[in-house]
Amino acid sequence: MAEHNFDVVILGGGSGGYAAALRSAQLGLSVALIERDKLGGTCLHRGCIPTKALLHSAEVADVTREAASVGVQATLLGVDMPAVNKYRDGIVDRLFKGLTGLVASKPITVVAGEGRMVGQKSISVNGDTYTGKNLVLATGSYSKTLPGLEIAGRVITSEQALQLDFVPNKVIILGGGVIGVEFASIWKSFGTDVTIIEGLPTLVPNEDASVSKAMERAYRKRGINFKTGVRFQGVQQSATGVIVSLENGEQFDAELLLVAVGRGANTAGFGYEENGITIDRGYVITNDRLQTSVPGVFAAGDIVPGLQLAHRGFQQGIFIAEEIAGLKPATIDELGIPKVTYSEPEIASVGLTEAKAAEIHGQDNISVYEYNLGGNGKSQILGTAGFVKLIRKNNGPIIGIHMIGSRVGEQIGEAQLIVNWEAFPEEVASLVHAHPTMNEALGEAHLALAGKPLHAHA
Ligand SMILES: Cc1cc2nc3c(=O)[nH]c(=O)nc-3n(C[C@H](O)[C@H](O)[C@H](O)COP(=O)(O)OP(=O)(O)OC[C@H]3O[C@@H](n4cnc5c(N)ncnc54)[C@H](O)[C@@H]3O)c2cc1C
Repeated sequence: MAEHNFDVVILGGGSGGYAAALRSAQLGLSVALIERDKLGGTCLHRGCIPTKALLHSAEVADVTREAASVGVQATLLGVDMPAVNKYRDGIVDRLFKGLTGLVASKPITVVAGEGRMVGQKSISVNGDTYTGKNLVLATGSYSKTLPGLEIAGRVITSEQALQLDFVPNKVIILGGGVIGVEFASIWKSFGTDVTIIEGLPTLVPNEDASVSKAMERAYRKRGINFKTGVRFQGVQQSATGVIVSLENGEQFDAELLLVAVGRGANTAGFGYEENGITIDRGYVITNDRLQTSVPGVFAAGDIVPGLQLAHRGFQQGIFIAEEIAGLKPATIDELGIPKVTYSEPEIASVGLTEAKAAEIHGQDNISVYEYNLGGNGKSQILGTAGFVKLIRKNNGPIIGIHMIGSRVGEQIGEAQLIVNWEAFPEEVASLVHAHPTMNEALGEAHLALAGKPLHAHA
């Protein structure tokens, strides 16, 4: 029943929480970081890293399968899922060790156990109380399901999907957002028959409409089945599979149903509302300085409404530490946060979609240019299709960049600098892009929008 006092007490050691802890320690603040499971949270153990490792194995399977098309003789003998999982776990373990060591090397008190708010500035863990001059709530998110759809047996979420030690023959994926299309990509590459069911009219519905269309084209070409604009009605399980019914009367059978309908904020049962924290539909409401309804209590990561991405959590954690230390950091512009979907093909975007830009500025006040990867040498070498789409304010800066194609995620760094630094196409056009790279496509698109296309017809 001990009492402990710190400058900052952080609840949750995922992307948002541990970033807040590291930056607070750098700034000389005393820190307690409370974690009930493993430092690193969803991203490291059940999200970003393990899924991207599986996507890499999937890419190797595809490359092997298609080796003859580039004159290399190779045969894909199969996918050894326990070995794939071992490779994946090795990466997670190394990063976990690195993170644990990094945190241990700083003046950060890591507290193991589940914490609960027991006062406006206090968290109780295993009977001890940790009181902070400031609190940071960073308890993350969980896989949501639909009303009446129980996660059990052959109805799984991404957590169970990552634990499978076999490649399923046939899978139905409920949800065509980021997590749904990434698992579809992995399984298809491993040889699974995949069908995605999406209630909205397109796959990846949060992306620019032309990206969604291109994604659908690419998935059709890959033989990934999908049904959009149809709603799920129910599922029946048997010893060998599932039968999924849609509201339009169609039925689909498969070995497994993956439910990927989004993530809810993990905020229930931790004493938040009882201690004055405003919660809306499970999310912690903050102002743009990430302060909750209780002064001195901040929130970071997936529990704050907005993009549920690890790098947003990192940035929010850093922001909060600097705010607490009195550095008055600039607020985070949500629109400037880059997004990548790591499927094959990849999708990368930052800034406004064309529809949103037209809504805000008027269609007549924006210009749009799409550079087709067909004109990009490296894309041809890799055999990928796609485009770089730019949206500019007329006589003004680039306000949106949307890309689709293999490996375009690696181009998001330059894209986000362009949008966040409000660069004009003419300025980017004067920067030299190395040849032959996929990055060149970004340069070419800006050349074209600046009125001097090189390898393009516009
Ligand atoms: C399958 C999948 C793939 C993803 N891929 C990507 C990707 O490629 N790129 C990307 O940017 N994002 C990705 N994400 C999203 C990313 O994982 C999250 O945005 C990120 O983890 C959010 O960080 P967080 O700190 O808010 O929460 P979390 O990482 O969930 O961390 C919260 C932590 O708090 C702990 N905790 C919760 N309650 C308590 C309590 N009461 N007491 C003590 N500890 C507690 C939990 O154990 C957990 O460790 C993916 C997510 C999933 C599920």
